[in-house]
Amino acid sequence: MTEPVATEVGRDFIRDIIQADLDQGKYKEIVTRFPPEPNGYLHIGHAKSIALNFGIAQEFPGRCHLRFDDTNPVKEEQEYIDSIQADVRWLGFDWGKNLFFASDYFDRLYEWAEKLIQDGLAYVDDQTQEEIRLSRGTLTEPGKNSPFRDRPVEENLDLFRRMKAGEFPNGARVLRAKIDMAAGNINLRDPVLYRILHAHHPRTGNAWCIYPSYDYAHGQSDAIECITHSICTLEFEDHRPLYDWFIEKLPVPSEPHQYEFARLNLTYTLLSKRVLTQLVRDGHVAGWDDPRMPTMAGMRRRGVPPAALREFVKRIGVAKANSVVDVGMLEFCIREELNRTSQRRMAVLKPLKVVIENYPEGKTEELEAINHPDNASAGTRKITFGRELYIEQDDFMENPPKKFFRLSPGNEVRLRYAYFVKCTGVVKNDAGEVVELRCTYDPATRGGNAPDGRKVKATMHWLPAATSVPAEIRIYNQLFSNPSPDASNFAADLNPNSLEILSDARIEASVAESNSTEPMQFERQGYFVRDKDSTPGKPVFSRTIGLRDTFAKEVAKG
Ligand code: ATP
Ligand code: MG
Repeated sequence: MTEPVATEVGRDFIRDIIQADLDQGKYKEIVTRFPPEPNGYLHIGHAKSIALNFGIAQEFPGRCHLRFDDTNPVKEEQEYIDSIQADVRWLGFDWGKNLFFASDYFDRLYEWAEKLIQDGLAYVDDQTQEEIRLSRGTLTEPGKNSPFRDRPVEENLDLFRRMKAGEFPNGARVLRAKIDMAAGNINLRDPVLYRILHAHHPRTGNAWCIYPSYDYAHGQSDAIECITHSICTLEFEDHRPLYDWFIEKLPVPSEPHQYEFARLNLTYTLLSKRVLTQLVRDGHVAGWDDPRMPTMAGMRRRGVPPAALREFVKRIGVAKANSVVDVGMLEFCIREELNRTSQRRMAVLKPLKVVIENYPEGKTEELEAINHPDNASAGTRKITFGRELYIEQDDFMENPPKKFFRLSPGNEVRLRYAYFVKCTGVVKNDAGEVVELRCTYDPATRGGNAPDGRKVKATMHWLPAATSVPAEIRIYNQLFSNPSPDASNFAADLNPNSLEILSDARIEASVAESNSTEPMQFERQGYFVRDKDSTPGKPVFSRTIGLRDTFAKEVAKG
């Protein structure tokens, strides 16, 4: 068989299978599900799965369920149940009435477990977890039968009922399927169906002290909900024979099929919930919604538009072979969407004061700035020009190299929407650092063009000193400095410069006054969004993503 791969955008081997099933009249309606375990926040890998499952339900006649796989109360919390629902909605998908919980099926799963016992297909094992692990064998050696494997049905039933009744402590016994300890597939070597866990469950409270394993609960939940195509990631491929075994042995109401696709891996990113949980718990980040996190909550806070995520997962496609996607691809999709949708404003991240010496003291004038270069309906706004301004420190060099076209002594540049200005002098502090520039402006260049046709090579953003507002700006870089961070020792790969705080930045007054959480472009700097840490006196803006820095590239080229 040849390996199926992602074909054109929007088409993939799973959709091909579904189309073929519909063509053959196997199903009238396609039913998929997204089955998160509520043990953490959703990340961008989940976005791929959500877009696949919900996308299929939109494209074909069908529906997609949101089902919480809430079978391990020790790690699961209501906070996660709530955040997952908010994130799926934010991404733009809707499960309608189809919200389910594996815990809704605990009674039925229990009855079916008793049936397996009665059919001689399950037994209670008194071995410890460690003993079970050691007797499981390896890829090359078969496992060993448990000494409890041949317990009579009645004894198994009695012990299983007493497990349920709470007579035994955690870990004392488990219920195992009786399949084959010599099976080539280790998943078939008498897998555990139930374990004892005296733990409070967010939904069933203290009703249960035995909980089903993922393998036992998952396929049966699919069957109960009449899922037609149960789509999961590749690591479950080896679990499929077990998935099918349960469906065959139990009186389930439908026969779902499992299909596996490659999970999303991204450079500079770890998408394991274990790692993400630890990043939060150990305080490496400020929470699940820290803008450096690859979580949907983090990306939302960072100003990433959901449409950019949808476009990203569409572009990467769905394939059957594992791969690592360049995080640059995600950044490209974010930039593309924000370029289209976000209004332009000006901000000065590292201000350098400029005094226009030939501009009259006390005079100001209102200049018109456009809000979006490609969208006239976004309108215009006014910015106040005056004698004292701020420009970006990086836009000035006292002794510039050859290709530096921005402001330097004697050089003329355009201030965006305003005038041509020329640098006539610098003011330095005792340490010899430039703290202020002296410039002149050409009144004939109002609006940014010289009537005599002379050209300047740079257009720079700026802000009026009097009416711009101080702000804190947070620049985020990759959380990990290693393109393939080591999940088992991730702390060593953390980027010490993943957060840069610019506390003396300035922004347009209109930006400061608006409480909008729509991202905007600060011209020449990138896309920024108001952060929830803003206070009335001090707005805080996070950089969603930078624009490409052409000067840095030129410098690198030499
Ligand atoms: P982890 O392995 O990090 O703990 P998980 O995959 O077990 O996460 P679940 O809540 O069980 O997390 O995942 C819900 C669904 O999302 C599953 O169907 C899973 O296959 C899918 N999923 C999880 N991570 C990815 C990923 N990186 N790419 C694509 N799908 C993913
Ligand atoms: Mg899982």
